[in-house]
Amino acid sequence: MADNEHYDVIIIGTGAGGGTLAHRLAPTGKRILILERGGYLPRERDNWESTAVFVKGKYRAPEFWYDKHGDTFPPEVNYYVGGNTKFYGAALFRLRPEDFGELRHHGGISPAWPIRYEDLEPYYTQAEHLYLVHGRHGEDPGEGEVSAQYTYPAVRHEPRIQQLSDDLEEHGLHPFHLPIGVNLTQDEHGRATHESVCIRCNRVDGFPCLVRGLPVSRRRPCIRYQEWRLPGDVLS
Ligand SMILES: Cc1cc2nc3c(=O)[nH]c(=O)nc-3n(C[C@H](O)[C@H](O)[C@H](O)COP(=O)(O)OP(=O)(O)OC[C@H]3O[C@@H](n4cnc5c(N)ncnc54)[C@H](O)[C@@H]3O)c2cc1C
Repeated sequence: MADNEHYDVIIIGTGAGGGTLAHRLAPTGKRILILERGGYLPRERDNWESTAVFVKGKYRAPEFWYDKHGDTFPPEVNYYVGGNTKFYGAALFRLRPEDFGELRHHGGISPAWPIRYEDLEPYYTQAEHLYLVHGRHGEDPGEGEVSAQYTYPAVRHEPRIQQLSDDLEEHGLHPFHLPIGVNLTQDEHGRATHESVCIRCNRVDGFPCLVRGLPVSRRRPCIRYQEWRLPGDVLS
C-alpha cells in the first residue's frame, strides 16, 4: 500500500455515530478516511413536502429487508452524508441507569451492559453540549445523576402543550420537556428570534431541514424546530 493510502482510522458511514466520531478525531491530526455510500441530500422544496417525503418516500433507500418470518418490509433508512440525522427528530435522551443492568421485558431479558451509566455520564454531557441540546435536567424523575446542566434552556411549550403539562402536574404527574438538539434561540414567549436558525416550523421528524441546509464546517448547521444535523454539516 502506498504511503498516501495509509490511514490511522477508517470510519464507515457518516451518521450519528460516524459523524460524531469524525468530529471528535479530527483535531488529533490522525489521517482519517471516511467512507460514505450516499451522496449529499438535495436541498429542495420537496424536503418539506409531506407527499414527497412520506407518501412517495422520495429520500428513502429503495430496498426491502426481511423480517424473521421471511416477509419483506421497507426499512426506514436513508443513505446520505449525515445518515439518519438528516431526518431525525433530535430528541436526544440519555439512557437511564437501570437500562445498563439486566432488564426483564415482556418479550425476554435484555442482558446487562459491561459498562454502567456512570461510565458514560461525562460523554453524555459532552454530546449534549455538542448537539446544542435544549432541555432542563432535574425535571425528569427517572433520569440518572448529571454532572452539568444543558447549555440551552428547554424549548418552551406551545400554549396547548403547556396547558396539558400543567394539568398533568395537578394530577401529581411529572411531565418534562423533551431534550431537543436544535439550533434555536427563543424569545420570552418561546418564539424563534430573528437571529435564530431554527424557525419552529412544523416540518420535523422525518422531513429533511430546509432552513439552513448544510454547508457546514461551521458547526451551526441546518436546523429548524428540532433538528441539528451535525454529522453532515461537519463533513460538508
Ligand atoms: C425519521 C427518524 C426520526 C428519528 N428521530 C430520532 C430522535 O428524535 N432521537 C434519536 O435519538 N434518534 C432518532 N432517530 C434515530 C437516529 O437517527 C439513529 O439512531 C441514528 O442516526 C443512528 O446512527 P448511526 O450512525 O448508527 O446510523 P445512521 O445515522 O443511519 O448512519 C449510517 C451511515 O452509514 C452509511 N452507510 C450505510 N452502509 C454503508 C456502507 N456499506 N458503506 C458506507 N457507508 C454506509 C449511511 O449512508 C449513513 O450515512 C430517528 C430516525 C429516523 C429515521
